[in-house]
Parts: sequence; C-alpha cells; structure tokens
Amino acid sequence: MSALQSTRSAMRRDRVFGFLQPEPDFQLPVDTSHGTILYVDDVSVRFDGFLALNRLNLSIDEGELRCIIGPNGAGKTTMMDVITGNTRPDEGRVFFGQNLDLLELEEVQIARGGIGRKFQKPTVFEALSVFDNLELSMASAKGTWKTLFHRLSPAQRSRIDEVLEIVGLQEQVQRMAGALSHGQKQWLEIGMLLMQNPRVLLVDEPVAGMTGDETERTAELLVSLAGGHTVIVVEHDMAFVRSIARRVTVLHQGSVLAEGSMDQIQKDPQVIEVYLGEEA
Ligand code: ADP
Ligand code: MG
Repeated sequence: MSALQSTRSAMRRDRVFGFLQPEPDFQLPVDTSHGTILYVDDVSVRFDGFLALNRLNLSIDEGELRCIIGPNGAGKTTMMDVITGNTRPDEGRVFFGQNLDLLELEEVQIARGGIGRKFQKPTVFEALSVFDNLELSMASAKGTWKTLFHRLSPAQRSRIDEVLEIVGLQEQVQRMAGALSHGQKQWLEIGMLLMQNPRVLLVDEPVAGMTGDETERTAELLVSLAGGHTVIVVEHDMAFVRSIARRVTVLHQGSVLAEGSMDQIQKDPQVIEVYLGEEA
C-alpha cells in the first residue's frame, strides 16, 4: 500500500473514530489540588428501565492505579462510557478534578482534555508502521494532519522514541502494525494514547487474549505508568489483578460492593459470594 493510500485509509478510519478528528489542541484546566482526579457522584444509568449503574460513587486520586473488577453485567464498561462522555447518566454528576463537570463536555473534548481510553479490541492502523501509528496519534492531538507530510521536529521525534521505549516496541518500529502479535498491538495502542499525554488512562480488559509473558509485561507497563498518569484498569484475569493491585473496587449490579486492598477484597464475604466464589 502506498503512503497516500495508507493515509486515505487512515482518513476513513478518522470518520469512524471520533477521537482522531483534528481539533484545536487544548488542555483542560483540571484542579487536582485536593488530590482527587475523578469523582463519580451518585450516578445512575438506565437502559429501558434496567439500572446498569445504580447510584455509583467512585473517587480516584491523581496518580492512582485503580483496578475495577466485578461479574459480567456489573456496569464496568458503562462506568467507563460515562466517564468518557459516551453515555450520559440519568442521574448524578461526574467531575474531572474539583472543578470540571464532565457532563458538560463533549466526548471529543474529554478525550483531548486528558482522559484517554483503551478499548478491549486494539484499534491500530494495521497497514501503517508502528512509527506511523504513533506519529498519526500525535498529528490528531496537535489538530493538524500536516505533520503527516512534514518533517518531525526534534521534540516530536524524541516523544515518539520515548513512547516506543515505554511500551517496549523499539525493535518493531518499522513493522506494519498488522504484523504485530496481539499483545504488541495492545501496547501500540497504549502508546498511541500516551502520545497525547493523557492525565487519566482507562483500560478495559487489557490482557484478554494475551500470552502469559505478554500479560506480565503489560502488568509492568501499567504499574510504570501510574504516578505520572492515573490508570484505571477493568480486568477479569484475577491473577493479573493481584499482580498489579493497589486499591481495588468491586462493582456489582451497578454499585460499589466493596473497595480496598486485594487482601481485604478477597476476605469480604459479600465479594466471595457474588464474584470470587469459585476461587475461594
Ligand atoms: P460489564 O462491563 O461490567 O460487564 P456493562 O457495563 O457492559 O457491564 O453492562 C451493564 C449492564 O447494562 C448489562 O446488563 C448490560 O446488558 C446492560 N447494557 C449495557 N449497555 C447497554 C445498552 N446500550 N442497552 C441496553 N442495555 C445495556
Ligand atoms: Mg465490560
């Protein structure tokens, strides 16, 4: 595929993925002076009368690595949809820092403003190289497609190198993304989010379908991102959760069932009953 064709195909993807649309670059003035970066306050979401989220309350500190677990249908994905502006709650409020009401922002503004989301399936551009994928996500962050056809500035180039190193894909830099393993594609997508330097990263089931080795490297990657970013991970793989867990939130029927360290969670009789039963 020629560079032009690749670009055209990327532009088509751009229509599908709203977050890649060129927009003016901006930073939201997030006030985290009290330590909280996300605050979900009594949020309910109803689908045809069914409560997917039922007065959900959640508070995430800046720089935290938070794991969210819970049985299928507990509302984990809906919670991410609410935070990213993809689903509007029927009740409740959602704040980014102390000051920003996320319910007043469009999905694209939230994504550009520092809340990046990684979906379960990787959505990299298979016909482009690893390098081009990273460059493209920077182009969309800067709100201009011109960067695609011009030389990169030294700062841009070094940001790409930095991200390649963080996600461990230096040796794959010229490979087509389509030729990467499933795990490598997931890391590339995390890298594409990192190009936009998000304050918050939401990651939905990152290790599904990964090999044991890839799972371990993903654990290291997410742990290394915490601190500099706030990382929220939804995952079913309990061994993986145990390996990265700090504070863990258990969702059940759209509300928080329990919250605490992995040890506390594993001893909680209610959690054992609804979720960890077979493991106990
Ligand atoms: P989880 O990610 O924890 O498995 P979800 O947030 O995907 O749970 O779903 C919570 C509940 O809401 C499920 O019962 C699901 O069937 C329902 N649900 C999710 N999205 C929709 C929708 N768009 N329309 C109707 N019901 C939905
Ligand atoms: Mg889900």
